[in-house]
Amino acid sequence: MASTLSDRLSRLVKQMRGQARITENNVQDMLREVRMALLEADVALPVVRDFIARVKERALGQEVVGSLSPGQALVGVVHKELAATMGEGVSDLNLAAQPPAVILMAGLQGAGKTTTTAKLARHLIQSRKKKVLTVSADVYRPAAIEQLKTVTKAAGAEWFPSQPSDKPLDIARAALDHARRHYFDVLIVDTAGRLAIDEALMAEIRELHATLKPVETLFVVDAMQGQDAINTAKAFKDALPLTGIVLTKLDGDSRGGAALSVRTVTGAPIKFAGVSEKIDGLEVFDAQRHAGRVLG
Ligand code: GDP
Repeated sequence: MASTLSDRLSRLVKQMRGQARITENNVQDMLREVRMALLEADVALPVVRDFIARVKERALGQEVVGSLSPGQALVGVVHKELAATMGEGVSDLNLAAQPPAVILMAGLQGAGKTTTTAKLARHLIQSRKKKVLTVSADVYRPAAIEQLKTVTKAAGAEWFPSQPSDKPLDIARAALDHARRHYFDVLIVDTAGRLAIDEALMAEIRELHATLKPVETLFVVDAMQGQDAINTAKAFKDALPLTGIVLTKLDGDSRGGAALSVRTVTGAPIKFAGVSEKIDGLEVFDAQRHAGRVLG
């Protein structure tokens, strides 16, 4: 079992007990421990490097060197930087649009887009009393449309029918029109994913974005993707103006370091976490709590 960041830092604080001031060696030791802990939590290497550079700058600054409680001061620097990187507290969905507010779901196949579409619909119905419509623009995976129908029903939302023979843009326009005419507050559009980044797919989702003008464009990413999450996140960030992230499968055995990677690369807040396969397995993401949980 790998040591958590807290374990590693408390060992360091113990070693430094009785020491009057922090030395540069102490800072180097601390940076090494932080680096190991982040890598063990599956944070992507470039993200770890950036993070370490920022911690180093703070630690070598006046706030720590020469401090009266050197060990604690170093730990404080790490925690502060972690909090700054993960973002503040919670960040809810933005629905400030002429109804229907459109939410566009983006991500690789298997990331959890369809499941999350229904979970979000349920969340909006229960917590914000919204009238929600879902639609699938995934015309490539034969079962995708039926899957969305089933989970939307379980969520208590309404589902707009589409056919594998339809064009994704036509589906989007028809669903938007239906949502307008029937006074839906929110339209959630599930999209096709591939197993890997694919240019044709990116072009398609860009077109969907231009047509739908969503108020939220959510990037859905599997926490179990670990180090690979950074490449996926980069590709989606370059293709679309992401407004938020949903980190799925946090109930799996990953250390959740993907949160730090994806957040750093996209600059977008993580808004929700998927914590089970069930329809109620979605939590509003609390960045500070997650930092504590992942890195111990
Ligand atoms: P899509 O291809 O992106 O639409 O992905 P799906 O919504 O079909 O999800 C792929 C698989 O991941 C399904 O078996 C889901 O039940 C599962 N899944 C999605 N979100 C979660 C989650 O938060 N936790 C767990 N354990 N499984 C999830």
